[in-house]
Amino acid sequence: MPSTASLIPRLKLDYPQFSFKQAEHFLWSPSEQTIYYTTEVESYGFLLHELSHGLLRHTDYSHDIELITMERDAWDKALELAETYKLAIDDDLIQSTLDTYRDWLHARSTCPQCKAIGLQVKKRAYACPACRHTWRVNEARICALRRSSTS
Ligand SMILES: [Zn+2]
Ligand SMILES: [Zn+2]
Repeated sequence: MPSTASLIPRLKLDYPQFSFKQAEHFLWSPSEQTIYYTTEVESYGFLLHELSHGLLRHTDYSHDIELITMERDAWDKALELAETYKLAIDDDLIQSTLDTYRDWLHARSTCPQCKAIGLQVKKRAYACPACRHTWRVNEARICALRRSSTS
């Protein structure tokens, strides 16, 4: 398996519209048009995933559910890219990463008072249809939720 570092020169050539910068976490920055990556071995799946966010022009979203759609779309695109570069991305990695987002959405949308599932009424606010309680949530960023371990 190639390392992330060995893939970078190729991606820089193929996608000159983006910058690639080494960092502590994987992240796509729409404002900087930059893909931040780490050089852990076999993390090229995440690298292709972040690149996919860029290629799909993912920027902002108004509902949390859209974030999950963006994540899924970015993995679909990453699988396509992997084929181009003759790489394979483990499906377990994709599923466990998506599960993180589903868990996050579930925790965020559960009414803290009665545990019913709330409706998102604003970018950072939910309302409970059962007990009318409203609550605020933190801002979420694309790919900021990933588990640190990929096991
Ligand atoms: Zn409630
Ligand atoms: Zn992502």
